[in-house]
Amino acid sequence: MNGDIEKIMISEEQIAVKVKELGGILAEEYRDKNPLLICVLKGAIIFMADLIRQMDIRCEMDFMAVSSYGSGTESSGMVRILKDLDTSVQDRHVIVVEDIMDSGLTLSRLVELLRHREAASVKVVTLLNKPDRRKVEITPDYSGYDIPDEFVVGYGLDYAENYRNLPYIGVLKPEVYAK
Ligand code: 5GP
Ligand code: MG
Ligand code: MG
Repeated sequence: MNGDIEKIMISEEQIAVKVKELGGILAEEYRDKNPLLICVLKGAIIFMADLIRQMDIRCEMDFMAVSSYGSGTESSGMVRILKDLDTSVQDRHVIVVEDIMDSGLTLSRLVELLRHREAASVKVVTLLNKPDRRKVEITPDYSGYDIPDEFVVGYGLDYAENYRNLPYIGVLKPEVYAK
């Protein structure tokens, strides 16, 4: 285990089981719809890569980068598009792939934007969900694990751009934040 990690919240094996389950559900639901999966950079990149390999259907992917958090752990409440899609979403069945739904601000803005661009449908799949932290009324359409209000890293999730490469979801030791 990485020396900066206090505890593993969700193991590599637990993640794999859940991703397979979610991929299976999405494949069923979108079988003849050629969905466009939108990875919200950078946090969702690992989840996206694993998820699409569990979806044995015709589908496409694209990437979008938005900023809502700085380098710290608190939401700024602002959502800015840093990198937009290459693909038009008009009349497409869109699945937004996120690492974690926390305040819900990022996803509610994104969903709003994609609807405005006349997507045929917009649904959200998130690996992690912190329902206690919600500031806007939004529920993920597909969700892996509900977690308590703790800041987590790994499997794409960062603290100051580090720890994304950990294969599990973990909690950092308090002294790491003091550095
Ligand atoms: P929101 O508050 O808008 O729902 O979440 C926006 C983004 O904040 C998430 O996509 C994620 O990148 C980041 N975030 C929220 N909670 C956590 C967390 O516990 N750990 C990490 N590393 N990022 C988080
Ligand atoms: Mg994210
Ligand atoms: Mg981050």
